[in-house]
Amino acid sequence: MVHFLPLQQINASFDPELSAAVQRVVESGWYLRGGENRAFEEEFARYLAVPHVVGVGNGLDALTLALQAAAELQRWEPGSEVIVPAMTFIATAEAVLRAGFVPRLADVDDRALLTPELAEAVVSERTRAIVPVHLYGHPAPMEDLMHWARQRNLFVLEDAAQAHGAQLEGRRIGGWGHAAAFSFYPGKNLGALGDGGAVATADRALAEQVRLLANYGAKEKYVHEVAGVNSRLDELQAAALRVKLRRLDADNAARRRVALRYGEKIRNPWVCLPYGGDAAQSVFHIYPLRSPHRDALAQHLAAEGVETLIHYPIALPDQPALQACCQLFHPATPMAQRWAKEELSLPVSPLLTEEEVDFVAEAVNRFRP
Ligand SMILES: *Cc1c(COP(=O)(O)O)cnc(C)c1O
Repeated sequence: MVHFLPLQQINASFDPELSAAVQRVVESGWYLRGGENRAFEEEFARYLAVPHVVGVGNGLDALTLALQAAAELQRWEPGSEVIVPAMTFIATAEAVLRAGFVPRLADVDDRALLTPELAEAVVSERTRAIVPVHLYGHPAPMEDLMHWARQRNLFVLEDAAQAHGAQLEGRRIGGWGHAAAFSFYPGKNLGALGDGGAVATADRALAEQVRLLANYGAKEKYVHEVAGVNSRLDELQAAALRVKLRRLDADNAARRRVALRYGEKIRNPWVCLPYGGDAAQSVFHIYPLRSPHRDALAQHLAAEGVETLIHYPIALPDQPALQACCQLFHPATPMAQRWAKEELSLPVSPLLTEEEVDFVAEAVNRFRP
């Protein structure tokens, strides 16, 4: 049996350092807003080569607070719109709603990424921002998107929740937009032992506004400048992330080796492999196959002892929760809907052995619809 992502085994592979870090925090008597959080923020900022990182409670908060901070600094009017890709985890769109704005859903390309052409199809005079998602670990075309957004004076927030460590032209994801939001949900490429998130930005005022909003709107204890929220990266998570950050590049390289081997070994006319020659740029948060017979393929693999998942079975325009806000003007998003119908994720854990990868690839090759 090849498991999709054996978190227990993965976290055990960080011991004894990971358990020692947890114990250090337990024994310190200090659990929030302390030295581990500050040290992680500095180390992650250095890793990304971005001046400011603010730890927050989770990825949804990172997205929401970055949008709220930008909206306050740039005085976005009520009813302002934010462009979001139609194929992503729902958090990308929910953050726009929670910040008080309107998501505009754009279709994605054949890599499930937003492009300037697809954003152009939904931009309006009310658009203030765009949130490209580096979905499945593959960088969105940031140079083109930044060029397009600059011409329209739009704020760019990278949703980097699936792409910790990915690079585009030698520059890390998270340093391309005006800000970036990360999640440290346990299953992400850089995962905590619970919830966690961060906002990265080169803009000092934006970083300070996020920090203010995330701390009940207070810089000084009990002096609340604005109505904020409680969203903290706790000391246990920060200490665990500091240990795991040191191995992030090696783990991403291992994921890429798995993906490369799938690319060499999988030969099946009913299965479409991800990215082609473009694959070197991905950190493979997920290895996304596509097949017109996706559900039969998933059943076949389960019977052969291979665990798979679907990311994601419903495109955002079809989510019940988004009908009220988005149906008024959503245009057709055929590619997003096609991804929802055809995508299947193979195991791509950094701990997979070559034998396990070959086992999975041979099981895929035996599939006939
Ligand atoms: C995981 C994820 C989020 C949300 O992160 P949480 O920490 O679970 O709130 C946002 N966007 C994308 C693309 C994600 O994969």
